[in-house]
Amino acid sequence: MKVLVINAGSSSLKYQLINTDNNDVIAKGLCERIGIDGSKLTHKPTGKQNAEIVSPMASHADAIKLVIAALLDKEHGVIGSMDEIGAVGHRVVHGGEAFSGSVIIDDEVKKALEECSELAPLHNPANLMGISACEEVMPGVPQVGVFDTAFHQTMKPEAYLYGIPYELYEKHKIRKYGFHGTSHKYVSNRAAKLLGKPIEELKIITCHLGNGSSITAVDGGKSVDTSMGFTPLAGVIMGTRSGVIDPAIIPFVMEKEGLSIKEIDELLNKKSGVLGISGLSSDFRDLETEANNGNERAKLALDMFINSVKRYIGYYACAMGGVDAIVFTAGIGENNGPMRAQIVECAEFMGVKIDPEKNKIRGEEIDISAPDAKVKTLVIPTNEELMIALDTKALVEGK
Ligand code: ADP
Repeated sequence: MKVLVINAGSSSLKYQLINTDNNDVIAKGLCERIGIDGSKLTHKPTGKQNAEIVSPMASHADAIKLVIAALLDKEHGVIGSMDEIGAVGHRVVHGGEAFSGSVIIDDEVKKALEECSELAPLHNPANLMGISACEEVMPGVPQVGVFDTAFHQTMKPEAYLYGIPYELYEKHKIRKYGFHGTSHKYVSNRAAKLLGKPIEELKIITCHLGNGSSITAVDGGKSVDTSMGFTPLAGVIMGTRSGVIDPAIIPFVMEKEGLSIKEIDELLNKKSGVLGISGLSSDFRDLETEANNGNERAKLALDMFINSVKRYIGYYACAMGGVDAIVFTAGIGENNGPMRAQIVECAEFMGVKIDPEKNKIRGEEIDISAPDAKVKTLVIPTNEELMIALDTKALVEGK
């Protein structure tokens, strides 16, 4: 089956057409500046010349129409008719407590999604626009929602509740949800395959380290704890996000600096993290260059990142009563060998040991453990789109 995977943002829309019979990407692309002047579609068909289509896109429906036209185009198209698209899989950021797995989208699901919008005001409304746009442009084609939060719905209350009055959970659903679930699910399943063991028998710590980073404890294939929380601001220090801080800092800084709720929210989400510490960049490559040039604050930012990831590795190894494998994924996890080495160094006492030569390999699925390591260290490039396509196919085919 060919599945169109859609990841709709407020003014952008990424897509991949995936053949789920062999997991090949048939075409992928990006619509930018939807609803803004200068909209353009960059279409990348596999094995053909890329195309850049500059055309106004007033809405997400306009964007989907252009995507379909590009997929059907005589020159850079990849399908003969729209009937070849068996289903559409949508990345949806927040499924709240309503969704513990992917679902076929119907009116009831859309209503539940609207209710979750309050929990992810920047993302869910855009995801819903993507869904409505596909319904309009591709009527009758089954649509599936795949949620970033769903994989973490297996956490127990002792892991997902905060130490605040229980009524706040009852009234406003304030609890840990966790994010990057599609990635954590994908890489933990790949890890089990790579290790040749049933996932039910494995304790895995998955480290998704990118602009946004999260660490998950996966016990027997289920998420039992994760570092992000009620929102993706919690957990490790990130590119521009603070990660966990003492909550008392928030009213203190608001008072001292005279900040509004909106301003403190922006400070913690956009001006903090390694950007805030270094005063230079949120990009780890820039920070490494600067640290190598002797910039102390860039080095401090990197050291803080390493330290915060270590904390979760120790915490989750204990929470699960052991660990069989540590998995690295996403931009930093897949590509930055020296960073991986510095992170796992702390865990040598529990049998983690990497092979420095294997650790030089970038962006490939590989076991980088030393031969005598008791705990495996793996690098597994994430593939959220493939996971979405496979979940979509399974639901549509009723498997
Ligand atoms: P996002 O959360 O936006 O999907 P990514 O997973 O793409 O982010 O990760 C972005 C981060 O990964 C950046 O800080 C970047 O410096 C780092 N990164 C990406 N590619 C490489 C690379 N080849 N070598 C080292 N770091 C990389």
